[in-house]
Amino acid sequence: MNKRYYFVTALVGVIALGVGIVIGYFVIKKQQNHDTWKYDRLTRQADKKNYQTFIDSVQAANIEANLKDLTSRPHLAGLPEDLESAEVVAERWKNDGLLVIKPKYNVLLSYPDDNNLNRVTLTSDDGSVIIQTNGTEKVYNSTQPKTVNPFLAHTPNGTVNSTKLFYGNYGALEDLQKLASVVGNASLQGSIIIMRYGSIFRGDKIMHAQYFGAIGAILYNDPADYAPFGTTADQVYDQKWYMPPSGAQRGSALILDGDPLTPIYPSTDYMYRLKEENVKYLPRIPAQPIAYAEAQIILQYLGGNEVPVEWRGALQNVTYRYGGELYNGSTIEVKTYNKLQRKDTYDVIGIMEGDIEPDRYIVMGNHRDAWSLGAIDPTSGTATMLEITRVLGEMYKNGFRPRRSLMFCSWGAEEYGLIGSMEYVQEYVKVLGARIVSYLNVDSAVQGNHTILVKTAPMLFDIIVEASKMVPSAYDAPGQTVYDKWMRVNRNNITDEPKLTYDRGSGSDYFSFDQLVGSSNMDARYTYNSAEQRNIASHPLYHTSYEVFSMMKKFVDPDFTAHRTMGQFIGVLVLLLSETPVLQFNVTRYTTTLMQAMNNLKPNDPTVLDPLRNAINDFGKTAEDFVARSKLMDRENPYEIRFYNDQLLQLERSFLNPLGQGGDYTDFKHIVFAPSKDNQYAASGFPTISDAIFNNNQTEIEYQVAIATYFVRGALSILKDFNNFFS
Ligand SMILES: [Zn+2]
Repeated sequence: MNKRYYFVTALVGVIALGVGIVIGYFVIKKQQNHDTWKYDRLTRQADKKNYQTFIDSVQAANIEANLKDLTSRPHLAGLPEDLESAEVVAERWKNDGLLVIKPKYNVLLSYPDDNNLNRVTLTSDDGSVIIQTNGTEKVYNSTQPKTVNPFLAHTPNGTVNSTKLFYGNYGALEDLQKLASVVGNASLQGSIIIMRYGSIFRGDKIMHAQYFGAIGAILYNDPADYAPFGTTADQVYDQKWYMPPSGAQRGSALILDGDPLTPIYPSTDYMYRLKEENVKYLPRIPAQPIAYAEAQIILQYLGGNEVPVEWRGALQNVTYRYGGELYNGSTIEVKTYNKLQRKDTYDVIGIMEGDIEPDRYIVMGNHRDAWSLGAIDPTSGTATMLEITRVLGEMYKNGFRPRRSLMFCSWGAEEYGLIGSMEYVQEYVKVLGARIVSYLNVDSAVQGNHTILVKTAPMLFDIIVEASKMVPSAYDAPGQTVYDKWMRVNRNNITDEPKLTYDRGSGSDYFSFDQLVGSSNMDARYTYNSAEQRNIASHPLYHTSYEVFSMMKKFVDPDFTAHRTMGQFIGVLVLLLSETPVLQFNVTRYTTTLMQAMNNLKPNDPTVLDPLRNAINDFGKTAEDFVARSKLMDRENPYEIRFYNDQLLQLERSFLNPLGQGGDYTDFKHIVFAPSKDNQYAASGFPTISDAIFNNNQTEIEYQVAIATYFVRGALSILKDFNNFFS
């Protein structure tokens, strides 16, 4: 009995132990599974199927329908149509499943007077009018909604007269210096200067004229730059996409970006506003754009010597002269009725929350406001962005969850000086500065059907190339990618890579992300063949009332495949940036960029650059070490990945000088890439050093080299070991 009892007891014990072990085994196993599952999820690799799903889902027909709808109504900033267009975008994004807000800013905008047209008048000494400009453009299609007449936003109203008229070529600083050297500084005082569009930002033309003593300015689009194949009816709009004789380019003349009354700070309700008379960036002289058919007559009355060949335009029966006293005692008058007005403008922000890293944002943006119907600028971008969000919304409904948060932005009042994006970034600069990985900008997404045109931060180079290899080229043989076309038509033969530019200037809404946020950003568009188009200054109907849907359909992108390509390219780039645990940024691109930027500087004494050269060499070595270390990273450890990614994000940010370029409080903060002072559209490496060299100021050169050296050394410290970041 006892034996049996013991046997049974022992047996029960063994079984219990066994069961216990088995239960324990499964419990522990389950626990491990659970931990591993959590761990795996955090470091999950990108599901590459999503890239192809995205590419396959973008439909040209949808973008065409978007563009047709969006360009059927005017959408100028600050008018009721600003809010209406914002609501259209907001509704679409809500349907796509995005979280949507509409930030509103009250900002200083500018409008002409519909009842009193802005005009330029040339009068002979007997008082008879030789020509008075129309103030409007010819209407080719009477069913087209009326849009704002040609004017230069933020220029004052007023009437100015002069018997002296000068021709200032493109109005660049060196153009007006040359003009002054030929005709004498004194004779420019009290004059009116006529200049052609192209080459530099229009606001700088007017500021230069003002600086040289002019009391008024006139701008026009010379056929040499906007209708190079001739100006007869069959050679221009509405038979071709070239500027017709009555066309005129609208645009802002504001030198500062953002609301002029609240520089540096957002235009929120509580913000202090400058008095208008204290805003030094507002132009002080009346100015007006006119048609080239009108300029042709006015230029015939110019006196003075003939200009050199490179100053000559292509107007028939005009001998291009420097000007002076007008022939026959004539008088030129500029009369404008523009009004500055504080208005509300709206951004629309749509967010798809990230599943694993919701605190990291991949941002795409495009402005929504247009001078006229804006079929190219910017609505080709808006039409494309809405297709990108539609596809991502569909994918979301089918279970896709982005790793990082995706943020889509539709900006207001860009045309008036990047105002909507500047105010938003200024308001949330701390949040955005801490969290944004990249900002991808489109403005005029499609201005041609030839190839892609990219401006980017250096570290995005490789990921952009990767995206271009995934996307079919528009108007090309089957199987050809954006990359193939790019390499065929725009190749850097030394590096055997596609050409792109690192200089971004301040031409669109990426500016505040470059200069205030410090993320690594890109701007892209599909463009025309510049050589074939005889190097036109821009797409010819830029900012005219002829930028309409039918123009896009007839002359630019008939089947909307260029739009589709842009949608696929930008969208896949969003996914490449959001889905990989380890960011695909290339730091060594920064080394070559810094070297190039420095080599572009040409001081009389090259040794003045030695401290900067040494810092860049050290940067190069540190970057190599950083890359070598990253190869040893434990890619299953989410912390290690985050450490690495954060160093990449901090690197671009470390080039921002919080005080602004040159030590004054400006929004130009990037020490390597910021606009130069004389041309807002351009940018050059190390702009403060290049300005000091331009001014031949030795002390200033040394000072600015020291500052740049400090920022390059700061940047390399970011890439060093955490316990030894000292340089
Ligand atoms: Zn634009």
